[in-house]
Amino acid sequence: MAEFDVDLFVIGGGSGGVRAARIAAGHGARVMVAEEYRMGGTCVIRGCVPKKLFVLGSHVHFEIADAAGFGWTIPSATFDWRTLVANKDKEIARLEGIYTTNVEKSGAHIVKTRAVFEDPHTLRLATGEALTAKHILIATGSAPNHGQMIPGIEHVISSNEVFHLEELPKRIVIQGGGYIALEFACIFAGFGSDVTVIYRGDNILRGFDEDVRLHVRAEMEREGITVLTGCTVSKVDRHGNEFTSHLTNGSSIASDKVMFAIGRHPNVANLGLEKAGVAINPRNGGIAVDNFSRSSVPHIYAIGDVTHRINLTPVAIREGHAFADTVFGKRPVEVDHATIPTAVFSQPEIGTVGLTEAEARAQFSRVDIYKTDFRPIKSTMSGRDTRILMKLVVDGTTDRVVGCHIVGDTAAEIVQAVAIAVKMKATKADFDATFALHPTAAEELVTMRTPTARYIREAAE
Ligand code: NDP
Repeated sequence: MAEFDVDLFVIGGGSGGVRAARIAAGHGARVMVAEEYRMGGTCVIRGCVPKKLFVLGSHVHFEIADAAGFGWTIPSATFDWRTLVANKDKEIARLEGIYTTNVEKSGAHIVKTRAVFEDPHTLRLATGEALTAKHILIATGSAPNHGQMIPGIEHVISSNEVFHLEELPKRIVIQGGGYIALEFACIFAGFGSDVTVIYRGDNILRGFDEDVRLHVRAEMEREGITVLTGCTVSKVDRHGNEFTSHLTNGSSIASDKVMFAIGRHPNVANLGLEKAGVAINPRNGGIAVDNFSRSSVPHIYAIGDVTHRINLTPVAIREGHAFADTVFGKRPVEVDHATIPTAVFSQPEIGTVGLTEAEARAQFSRVDIYKTDFRPIKSTMSGRDTRILMKLVVDGTTDRVVGCHIVGDTAAEIVQAVAIAVKMKATKADFDATFALHPTAAEELVTMRTPTARYIREAAE
């Protein structure tokens, strides 16, 4: 009889856990996956995918507005929030089904329940059953932060609830200046809501390239979004269906919804980690892991948001795959976390890969910047007041392109392709040798010949 009930027990059926389960099963392991909510996790159920569907829906208003310049007469358009939400729910249910089927097809078994550690090799299911596993993978993801317990915090929604609102809020206050806050600010603005973003620092998108931060903010403000910086929400009052957000700068704003998008925390609570002896990383509150995603207990691993390294779906998937190959495929794989492309689906969207100008200038003694901002060809006919930003950051000593930052429609699609070149360590000369594809916006990336700025740091005497 086998020593353990299963070879691998995966806690969490999100993108990372599912990838690990499928690959491990493919390597011949007996695998069980526990998921207490819905298969697919944050990305599929209440994150990337439904968000992108909302972005696509919201963006239609630009197409409608742009149409007249091209000769179209479109009768006054109306939008129905409930149809959008219902169709989104249908699509998410379809994807959830695919996730479930794919896991089952791989030979892994799903249990729809919460699982917590009883001891380092035993999991207790909510059904009361206990199971033993040779290896355990913690892939429980993360959840929205709500910050300090300010008065009225119970009236505030997060990105969990925003996908299920009964009605489109006519006015919404969104606190936060990162991915989720800006994506939803633009989604709601596109549907016609009056949007106010509240951000505690001097400018949104801390950590992004300075030019990107300035450009996106200007574009959002041009679209009518109010961005208030240097303040936070200190209290929320409710009067029937209306809310008043009181700000630390003394002002207050009335709205139909108040949302916070102020970061996420790893789901480490109430998992019985102490019974298993799994250590928490004191620096970030996630599960402490090494480069192979192995925790302080040698047969227990953790991947994705629960480790609070880089909280992006493709990273969790890569970590899950590497774990399965390492433990069950007899092929140790470390995940290289360098040069991960990322996008913020604001409108216009941001695509970025590699170093910001500030990071490059801190790292290299010679840095060349190639930057352009221009009116897209479509706007010349539509009359829409918008500009695209493209920026390349080059290590002046080796000529390597170390960063690419784009703000504009389809920036994410462009940067996905550019990321291959950057990961391959392409030089500016390689970009220059590449033919332009005309007429596109992306051709600017291979036609910018003269640096717009050059920084040379003299060696210290
Ligand atoms: P982010 O870390 O992107 O942004 C959090 C924002 O909230 C920052 O502006 C931060 O300010 C602010 N903030 C943090 N704490 C407080 C506080 N106590 N009071 C007021 N403001 C605060 O988190 P998100 O919630 O937007 O998203 C979580 C993560 O999910 C992202 O970091 C990303 O990894 C992932 N994600 C990725 C997406 C994508 O790939 N398109 C989409 C959505 C999420 P400050 O900068 O000053 O710290």
